[in-house]
Amino acid sequence: KHVVRAVGVTKTYGSGHATVQALRSVDVDFESGEFTAIMGPSGSGKSTLMHVLAGLDTVTSGQVFLGGTELTALPDRDLTELRRERIGFVFQAFNLLPVITAEENVTLPFRLAGKTPDRVFYEEIISKLGLTSRMHHLPHELSGGQQQRVAVARALLPRPDVIFADEPTGNLDSQSGTEVLSLLRRSVHDMGQTVIMVTHDPVAASYADRVVLFADGERSGEIASPTTESVL
Ligand code: ADP
Ligand code: ADP
Repeated sequence: KHVVRAVGVTKTYGSGHATVQALRSVDVDFESGEFTAIMGPSGSGKSTLMHVLAGLDTVTSGQVFLGGTELTALPDRDLTELRRERIGFVFQAFNLLPVITAEENVTLPFRLAGKTPDRVFYEEIISKLGLTSRMHHLPHELSGGQQQRVAVARALLPRPDVIFADEPTGNLDSQSGTEVLSLLRRSVHDMGQTVIMVTHDPVAASYADRVVLFADGERSGEIASPTTESVL
């Protein structure tokens, strides 16, 4: 079952003579319970694709669907609500609020919605991410790698249908990188979540079920059952 789908998606930045075609009529599907890595050279459109798939940016033409809903036809307010309920983000700018602790950052989405997170799941994620002793600190008291792992915890805790991760292991040493990747992999396999991850790292890509390759705003290939060697 396709949970995320792009049909003929084009994205052009700028206007007049100064335009950049970041996406050129892209068709791509992601199934529920599937972990996909997106790879390609810098400037090939990977981040733009993630943003339009997540409804964070508009398309120039084409359609994006989340489940049975066409995101590209939704008014902003409905889009915001849909994102809050069904999508998790691990983006490079971690967007942790600086004035509240790591724990408050992770649980904020729940408190805003008047809900309480699953405490057992919380403790499990925090412990797997090696953050147990750090959660009462403010973001600036944590290392870059720890802040990134806090952002991962925040994305995983609500168990969203779809998780978008842009270079989730970019700032991490190999051990914490491995923990993040195995948590993402487990979300997919145990809970049927869909993970869409942009990465340059062949080791990270080897955790995915497939790699979709991008070049110059277009799909340029696909690797099934990737291994560290096959994506190099
Ligand atoms: P990648 O993530 O693969 O590095 P991007 O999606 O960031 O690629 O960029 C694709 C192309 O779109 C590049 O040529 C980039 O310079 C351009 N681009 C990205 N964001 C913007 C923007 N906000 N305004 C203008 N051009 C942009
Ligand atoms: P990482 O490999 O996770 O990026 P670092 O080498 O940056 O870790 O940090 C090592 C230790 O120093 C960590 O336990 C971290 O919590 C602590 N630390 C890093 N930056 C700060 C800071 N600004 N204030 C307090 N503790 C910090």
